[in-house]
Amino acid sequence: MKLDRRIDIKLTPQRLAILECLVGNTSHPSASDIYKSVFEKFPTMSFATVYNTLETLKEKGVVVELSIDPDKKRFDPNTIPHHHLLCLRCKIIKDIFEKFSLVLSESEEYNFDIIGNHVDFYGICPQCKGVESNKHK
Ligand SMILES: [Zn+2]
Ligand SMILES: [Zn+2]
Repeated sequence: MKLDRRIDIKLTPQRLAILECLVGNTSHPSASDIYKSVFEKFPTMSFATVYNTLETLKEKGVVVELSIDPDKKRFDPNTIPHHHLLCLRCKIIKDIFEKFSLVLSESEEYNFDIIGNHVDFYGICPQCKGVESNKHK
């Protein structure tokens, strides 16, 4: 199997189901989101399995762990460097592929070789804005 060679972890049916749930998933799911969707197919799967599989996939560089959501870790199968925009109300996360030319001054580089950056944007999405303005009517 192709996936198997590429990520070099033992793919049990459960792990495969977790991977399938992640591939092409742009919702930046949390471990419990993935657990909920995989649970339908594998009612015997434990949350620990989901969590541990995500940790393994993260170590292998298959998924990226995001810290943008203050409530829980979120996972992103898109490992191409990009930025994120979070709605503070409903916690939806959007991808931003804009390349920002952020340059540090020499004193702020602390002699590091700078490899990249990650910008987190926060805001209120159109849907949540709509709820807000309905309330005030
Ligand atoms: Zn929202
Ligand atoms: Zn993303």
